[in-house]
This record gives sequence, structure tokens and C-alpha cells, in this order.
Amino acid sequence: MTRQRALILNIMRENPGHLTADEIYALAREQMPGIARGTVYRNLKLMEQDREIAKLEMPEGPDRFDKTSAPHGHLYCDGCGSLQDIPVIGLVRDIEAVIGTEVRSYQLTIHYLCPACRSKLSQ
Ligand SMILES: [Zn+2]
Ligand SMILES: [Zn+2]
Repeated sequence: MTRQRALILNIMRENPGHLTADEIYALAREQMPGIARGTVYRNLKLMEQDREIAKLEMPEGPDRFDKTSAPHGHLYCDGCGSLQDIPVIGLVRDIEAVIGTEVRSYQLTIHYLCPACRSKLSQ
């Protein structure tokens, strides 16, 4: 593993949530000022291919990256675009019971309005 790749992985593990490539690049530069944007993008792609991390395509705005490729669902706020992890293993088990075989992978994004956006709406 290169130093750049180790740095990127560290940044992702230390930051809660789901960063964009540019956010990761900005944080990487604080610790390694000479790092190039292309290096960050290339490493993210390699890490995604190695299933070390996962890329999330967003309904709006740039892709974000997940520090794990372990399957989980996401809660997406249509108001502010915030993205949170949610466990959906119970749901996946139910689906497996229906289809009678193992679910191999999934991408699940549940759209909602977060509490802050809901209260803004009701004012
Ligand atoms: Zn919101
Ligand atoms: Zn996630």
C-alpha cells in the first residue's frame, strides 16, 4: 500500500459520514501538501475496485465515498442532501426468505426529510 493510499483510508476512517472526492482531496492536502488531485482520484478508484471502499452515486451533486464496502442502506434527506447509514439486515433477510436464496449485493437508499428539514417545513 502506498503512503497516499494509507492517508486516504485514514481520512475516511476518521471522518464520520460520506465524503466527496474533493473533500477527501482537501483533507489529504492538509497532511500531505504535495499530493495531486489526480492521485487522490486514482487511489479512490483503485480502492473501490479492491472493494476496500464503495462509491455512492448521489441523486444530486458529486459521488460520495463510503469507508466500507460492507453492505448497508442509506437514509438520504431530499431537503439538505445529508446521508446516513442505516442497518437493513432484517429487511435483506426478509427478502432472502421470499426469493429463497442469498442476496449477493444491494444498493438501498431511502429518501426522507431529516428532522431539521421537517421542522423548517412546518414553520
Ligand atoms: Zn435535511
Ligand atoms: Zn454508508
